[in-house]
Amino acid sequence: MAFTMRDGRLQKDGKPVAMVASPFCGPEFASPPKIAVIHFTAGSTAATSAAWFADKSRPRATGSSAHVVIDRDGSLVQCVGFDSIAWHAGRSAWQGLIGLNQHSFGIELANLGYLHRVGSGWAGTGDRAVADPLLAVHRNGNPDGSHTPIGWERYPAAQIDTAVALLDVLVAGGVSQILGHDDIAPTRKWDPGPAFDMTAFRNRVFGGRADDGDNVLVVLPAAGLFLRSAADGAAAPVRAEPWPSGTQVRPMRVQDHWIEVTVLGVNAQPLATGWMRDAYLGQPGEVPPAAAGAVAAAPIGLG
Ligand SMILES: [Zn+2]
Repeated sequence: MAFTMRDGRLQKDGKPVAMVASPFCGPEFASPPKIAVIHFTAGSTAATSAAWFADKSRPRATGSSAHVVIDRDGSLVQCVGFDSIAWHAGRSAWQGLIGLNQHSFGIELANLGYLHRVGSGWAGTGDRAVADPLLAVHRNGNPDGSHTPIGWERYPAAQIDTAVALLDVLVAGGVSQILGHDDIAPTRKWDPGPAFDMTAFRNRVFGGRADDGDNVLVVLPAAGLFLRSAADGAAAPVRAEPWPSGTQVRPMRVQDHWIEVTVLGVNAQPLATGWMRDAYLGQPGEVPPAAAGAVAAAPIGLG
């Protein structure tokens, strides 16, 4: 899939993509944005989000928009011209910039975001059940302030593929940074959240490949390693069982002797996020430190 851009209109195969124009936008950018901001819709499909952005009955003071909304199946709807400011960021700041609407493109992904418990499962807006959510703690803490894993709707591959193709054309136009709404408004926004593997996404867009040159570590101890909900050996494990030796993880940040990681499944799909002890992660074939064997024999303290 390859997009092109002509006068702010996204084109696919030489034809403009579907557009539902939002009145909540403008004026034109003073200079081409170098930042793209990723959002989730918190439930809506691309069509219902675009209709909401286009709803002229909304008071202008509360109007909002984005440049595009990408559906779960990879289809997309443009809502604002890429030459104009969309109203997607709200109060926001990043590296000295205040009010990111003027400096960024807004890309919405149809996704329920954080889920809530319904019976023994998880559901999003309207109690719509989600069968296989990612269980994770948001790196800024969950929306309800908790620090234990909650469910997040996963992003289908088709949706991510379209987002990568869109970013390819935006990068060609000068974008050099991809951020989450949760990066530029960390105290009030949680999108796109832990189910969006930002590191893998940036690697795909900026030329790296997930299976080549990516910084992936593996679980070393033969007995496996617990994924903790915080950087603390006493913190509750994200799941009851340790992750087996050889499990691939992608490091996100380091705190003391702990690394916040995304646990990867087949095709580098994110399975869970949490904290693991740095000493027990390494390159495939590496031998864990001597103490790890002893600790591994006593799972209570492992990781
Ligand atoms: Zn957002």
